[in-house]
Amino acid sequence: MLLTHDNSVSHYQIAIVGGGAAGITTAAQLLKQNSCLDLAIIEPSQKHYYQPGWTLVGGGIAPINQFVREEKDVIPKRAKWIQDYVTTLDPEQNCLTLAQGQTIAYDYLILCPGIQIDWHLIKGLPESLGKGGVTSNYSKDYASYTWETIKNFQEGTAIFTYPTTPIKCGGAPQKVMYMADEYFKRGLGKNHQVMFCSAGTKMFGVAAYNATLEGVVKRRGIITKFQHNLKEIKADSKEAIFDVTTDKGIEAVSIHYDMIHVAPPMSSPDFIKQSPLANDQGWVDVNPYTLQHNRYPNVFGLGDASSLPTSKTAAAARKQAPVVVQNLLSKMNRQPLMAQYDGYTCCPLITGYRSAIMAEFDYDGNPTPSLPLDPTKERYSMFLAKVYALPWIYWHRMLKGEGFEADIFQPINQLLQTFGNDLKI
Ligand SMILES: Cc1cc2nc3c(=O)[nH]c(=O)nc-3n(C[C@H](O)[C@H](O)[C@H](O)COP(=O)(O)OP(=O)(O)OC[C@H]3O[C@@H](n4cnc5c(N)ncnc54)[C@H](O)[C@@H]3O)c2cc1C
Repeated sequence: MLLTHDNSVSHYQIAIVGGGAAGITTAAQLLKQNSCLDLAIIEPSQKHYYQPGWTLVGGGIAPINQFVREEKDVIPKRAKWIQDYVTTLDPEQNCLTLAQGQTIAYDYLILCPGIQIDWHLIKGLPESLGKGGVTSNYSKDYASYTWETIKNFQEGTAIFTYPTTPIKCGGAPQKVMYMADEYFKRGLGKNHQVMFCSAGTKMFGVAAYNATLEGVVKRRGIITKFQHNLKEIKADSKEAIFDVTTDKGIEAVSIHYDMIHVAPPMSSPDFIKQSPLANDQGWVDVNPYTLQHNRYPNVFGLGDASSLPTSKTAAAARKQAPVVVQNLLSKMNRQPLMAQYDGYTCCPLITGYRSAIMAEFDYDGNPTPSLPLDPTKERYSMFLAKVYALPWIYWHRMLKGEGFEADIFQPINQLLQTFGNDLKI
């Protein structure tokens, strides 16, 4: 394709970088508050993906096309869509440049370009993905292959990995593992073993949910290997090579696999890392409560690319967006920034084909259940919420800038208050 180089400069009152979960939600909410805002969304992709659905694709619950829409159909009507990549950011001059050469000047900037997947950091992985039992739900291109691999698994060792870096949806590597284990147990004899090989030291970072998950792996007979960091795939010999931390230091250990689901290392997008807007680790350097940039007050950041010290999920972005909206509008009106984000995030941890734990928590690791039910319990209702309710909420409420607590959670809450925890759901 012949790229035309456009050196023009356009100006917008608000520029949003990234039209994913966080960018579209924030744009829709801003325009609901003030439809006259002059707002541009810079987003290169033709399609918009509901990434939490890829777990359901990998588990054989839904086809991949259920979780994709045309980007043009999710961009709010009054926003201008600039379909290009941002390549550099110049917050001193309040402008940014695009891959095709155009410069965008802004009064206010919102950064939410998501997280970058660093497949290349695992030797042999990029060339072995999508064949020979090597897969990952972290890509739309391989989630369907995960299910194909699980379905066709005959016997041997199925490995599920977890890296050293922060990742989006930290629960996703084990959700697919529990579904695979259940599927294997339905059809296979005893000639298989399921292994969770994690660079971490426990199943989950929040104590209340970790306890339940330890029970799940024990009940399922899943082998756990902690401080195992995947560094290489040898596809020819079906070996996964891990850096294992021991008392004596780090040693390389090879484990044979018949299938392997890889949660790859991830980091902030390179153009953020290389910009003055990054913190020491490369993330968009924002105040954890107001989401305003720590050095450039006309810049805000949210979603996976932000420095917010919470688990990176679409659910977190859903709670961050109204804080950015309120504080940005306050900033524009020279008012103090009053809205505060408490670190809320949520990971619907599927533990089988009829159960999930709705792991909601805040910055302090306190469970923050949306419904008056013990959140640490595996429940069929939470599995149904993950499969049916959350995708619907995403497309029809969140991306449209609508709340749903009042018309969905409140009636359910009332019902639950009547029946209490006796309700077997
Ligand atoms: C397998 C899997 C399971 C998950 N499960 C859950 C779950 O159960 N619950 C949950 O809440 N979350 C889940 N997530 C995480 C969730 O999808 C992300 O946390 C969420 O999408 C983050 O929103 P975001 O807007 O920050 O990033 P994204 O939604 O990834 O959007 C970032 C956007 O920025 C664009 N972009 C990138 N680079 C540039 C650039 N240079 N210039 C302009 N635009 C750019 C991208 O094209 C993209 O559209 C899951 C994710 C995966 C992969």
